[in-house]
Amino acid sequence: MPFGLTGKRVWVAGHRGMVGSAVARRLATEPCEIVTAGRETVDLKRQIEVEEFLADTKIDAIVIAAAKVGGILANDKYPADFIYDNLIVEANIIEGAHIANVDRVLFLGSSCIYPKFAEQPIRENSLLTGQLEPTNEWYAIAKIAGIKLCQAYRKQHGRDYISAMPTNLYGPGDNFDLNSSHVMPALIRKAHEAKLRGDKEIVVWGTGTPRREFLHVDDCADALVFLLQHYSGYEHVNVGSGQDVTILELTRLVCDVIGFDGKIVHDLSKPDGTPRKLMSADKLRGMGWKPKIVLKEGIHKTYAAFLAGQSVIRTLEGAGK
Ligand code: GDP
Repeated sequence: MPFGLTGKRVWVAGHRGMVGSAVARRLATEPCEIVTAGRETVDLKRQIEVEEFLADTKIDAIVIAAAKVGGILANDKYPADFIYDNLIVEANIIEGAHIANVDRVLFLGSSCIYPKFAEQPIRENSLLTGQLEPTNEWYAIAKIAGIKLCQAYRKQHGRDYISAMPTNLYGPGDNFDLNSSHVMPALIRKAHEAKLRGDKEIVVWGTGTPRREFLHVDDCADALVFLLQHYSGYEHVNVGSGQDVTILELTRLVCDVIGFDGKIVHDLSKPDGTPRKLMSADKLRGMGWKPKIVLKEGIHKTYAAFLAGQSVIRTLEGAGK
């Protein structure tokens, strides 16, 4: 094992977000110490604050789950936030980790780093082989820069910093705000409210034909802790379920779980985004990891969390596109 966690101090940057909180829950089952720091302690956009925090707090490993994230409309509306916040946070943490001599960094990206028309399922080596999907290119460029930072610090300074690219994640702690959320929490909320109101239909953005892959955030956290312990390499690693569905199929599944049997109508004024982004899961499977939560079960769990009021309006501290 390249990195045993016993007795190690692991900083989960972005621990209040959906991914960060799942990673912290998963790390709590390991014999390590979890370090967290809210924005009141360290503003990740301020280089000096990050460097001082890392100098004062002896850290062995960092999981960078802090990011500015959002769905297709939020990306389109706030391009400056999506590119700047993500670039500055990842650069501050990776440079700060190097200065403070932190042994391991795990940087999290997203499947949107890949070209819009990449060959499916998308292998890790498709990175930078074509044009990006324009609706989220700002976020994608920042995340590609994060991968390159890890590679550059490995090449120049011999740092064991790695990157993982999760697919579309969902689960407890997701953002259920309809204007800024991703499709899964949006559909859960829409179907739930339509059922309560006794509506005859729910509205789905776009044509419903785009295909997306989904992974429950607890499976993602398990994969990330696995990579932190077992993977050391220059190339990033895809973290996905290896299966995708159309948005229409997903809508039917969500409606079925929630018990809404009205009509599904399409708002064609909203964008479809990239037609398909199924990632190849071969690399991670080859290392011996596989997901445990099937989609329907994951939707049930997420709906239960939604009903329990675990939704949050996500700001800088969420992660996972
Ligand atoms: P993407 O994966 O970056 O495209 O981000 P999203 O998760 O926001 O959208 C995925 C797909 O779901 C796109 O084709 C959207 O048009 C579609 N979609 C359908 N209904 C909704 C909705 O209510 N909210 C969101 N965010 N997307 C929706």
